[in-house]
Amino acid sequence: MSTTDQRVAIVTGAARGIGAATAVRLAAEGCAVAVLDLDEAACKETVEKITAEGGSAIAVGCDVSDSAQAETAVARVVGELGPPTVLVNNAGVLRDNLLFKMSDADWDTVMNVHLRGAFVMSRACQKHMVDAGFGRIVNLSSSSALGNRGQVNYAAAKAGMQGFTKTLAKELGKFGITANAVAPGFIVTDMTAATAERVGMGFEDFQAAAASQIPVQRVGRPEDVAGAIAFFSGEDAGFVSGQVLYVAGGPLN
Ligand code: NAP
Repeated sequence: MSTTDQRVAIVTGAARGIGAATAVRLAAEGCAVAVLDLDEAACKETVEKITAEGGSAIAVGCDVSDSAQAETAVARVVGELGPPTVLVNNAGVLRDNLLFKMSDADWDTVMNVHLRGAFVMSRACQKHMVDAGFGRIVNLSSSSALGNRGQVNYAAAKAGMQGFTKTLAKELGKFGITANAVAPGFIVTDMTAATAERVGMGFEDFQAAAASQIPVQRVGRPEDVAGAIAFFSGEDAGFVSGQVLYVAGGPLN
């Protein structure tokens, strides 16, 4: 691909964790990458990693749950990098609690970041993909979509991401746009570190306990997920749409 037709990708929640690894991977695959996160300054490290490896990236501050900010962020990407034709809806938060202790705010925050965020970002990007006759949308679901104690909000949002993905695939396929979901199991990031803290375990012990239950006998790394996202984002995945790929070191029930 020449620089003039270099694909532009937006990765949300890309300051750290799975999003950062995905931004780095997509840049290595030849995309110019908008590293988008709540705090623009926090994106610096990911941008520097990409540019140090010869790639092209910008930092974009945006709260994906705010549709006006999402529209502004996408317009900025169009102006600075070009129209985005790859979108990875990765930004996420946890507000875990058992049902009887969960507040309305904990419910709303999780729905707004995961579902509303993916909705407003996809809506803002789709016109550019339609114009290009090409698009790749990859949404982050989770093994928690199958149900997980203490995560009634998160499990509902991550199951919702699967229905959202399949509907995007049906609506947008005729424009050359695919939509797929990646559903990670246990991945070592700040998010799982926070879960270890919530359940009162040291992070190393928490990882060891998780690994013992995973068929490949190890926990996942952000790069494991980035590899799956890179496949769905690439040219080769044009006939794969509306799918959910569990990246969990084994099958799940
Ligand atoms: P992480 O390390 O906590 O990173 C998430 C990033 O999203 C953070 O940089 C965070 O910014 C950002 N973010 C949060 N709210 C945002 C908003 N409203 N707008 C823009 N950015 C926002 O999480 P991760 O573990 O890499 O997870 C990435 C995705 O994979 C999430 O959707 C998560 O649910 C999913 N996932 C993770 C695992 C796992 O085991 N780690 C498993 C299954 C699914 P701040 O730091 O400023 O909050």
